[in-house]
Amino acid sequence: MKTLIILLGAGVLWGQAKPSTRSLNAINWMEFQELVPEKIDTVLIPTGTMEAHGVINNGADNTAPEAMVKDLAEGLNALYAPVLPYGMTGTLAPFAGSFSIKEKSYRLFLTDVVEGWAGQGFRNVIVINGHGGPQTAVLNDIAQDVGQRLRVRVMVVNWWSTCSEATLKVFGQDGGHAGWNETAYVQAVDGTLVHPERDDKDLATTRQGAATWFAYPFPSSVILYQKGQGYPQYDAGKAAQYRAAVNACVLDLVKDTIRKWDKAKIFR
Ligand SMILES: [Zn+2]
Repeated sequence: MKTLIILLGAGVLWGQAKPSTRSLNAINWMEFQELVPEKIDTVLIPTGTMEAHGVINNGADNTAPEAMVKDLAEGLNALYAPVLPYGMTGTLAPFAGSFSIKEKSYRLFLTDVVEGWAGQGFRNVIVINGHGGPQTAVLNDIAQDVGQRLRVRVMVVNWWSTCSEATLKVFGQDGGHAGWNETAYVQAVDGTLVHPERDDKDLATTRQGAATWFAYPFPSSVILYQKGQGYPQYDAGKAAQYRAAVNACVLDLVKDTIRKWDKAKIFR
């Protein structure tokens, strides 16, 4: 009797077996075949670029979404794709170690990537984007184009702006590009990527909205949204708090979106 119970217990466990990994880099084709789409129909794709970011790494726009998809995959019952580290850098492209992919190349390549995962059976393709500027509009276009043609649901989340309330809640002030918010997220992921010893107030310039003024190259890699707000202060406790708040915010939004797609029976 005792043996029977143990066997039944194990059977239940096998039935609900967790994937050995949620990384599409790490999974093998046999496990993928067992999971997608019957057990897992959501894929997370992190996108970024190479771009100067004050005293944090040029790959900050990759570091944040790459860490985020790992954090969110289980809560969304998703698998996550490798980060796409090259993107459309704008007015900061002339800074050392920064460059841009041409729009045409980016559009074609990203379209193929989104189509590729959709073609593998994922019903929900969620792009977690780490870089703004012109890249966002191109990603939105791709979402609509691939969604229409393949009848799949595609979402693009720009984490820093979607979760701007978390910035105000944790820091009590607005943030910026490579501001306290983005610097904090990277600090929470890997503190060795932050170099406060190189801090200099001239690393930052305030620009209240993209429509106010334009300069190429932009004079600094930290772009603050409000005067006197958002300069990095390197508080490790607040950094951890901010990362958790952003993750919770993105998780809620994506969950709610998928729930509403399901409820409306769109592309089922
Ligand atoms: Zn960034």
